[in-house]
Amino acid sequence: MNMRRYPIKKISTENMVEAVVWNCSEKGCNGWMRQQFTLEKQPNCPHCGSSMSLDKKLVPPLNDPLP
Ligand SMILES: [Zn+2]
Repeated sequence: MNMRRYPIKKISTENMVEAVVWNCSEKGCNGWMRQQFTLEKQPNCPHCGSSMSLDKKLVPPLNDPLP
């Protein structure tokens, strides 16, 4: 029997969506998190503790089913 496997769907930059994110204000730190998952009005960076500012970023889509 020849069972063919479907190729695993890759997440490419073409599928990226623009989302509102908190960006770390610290130079050299690339900490960020999705604003929709952030409950705080003014969160601090989880990596370095600096203040964060709202920005837009291309992120992988959330509607992909988990494996
Ligand atoms: Zn940071």
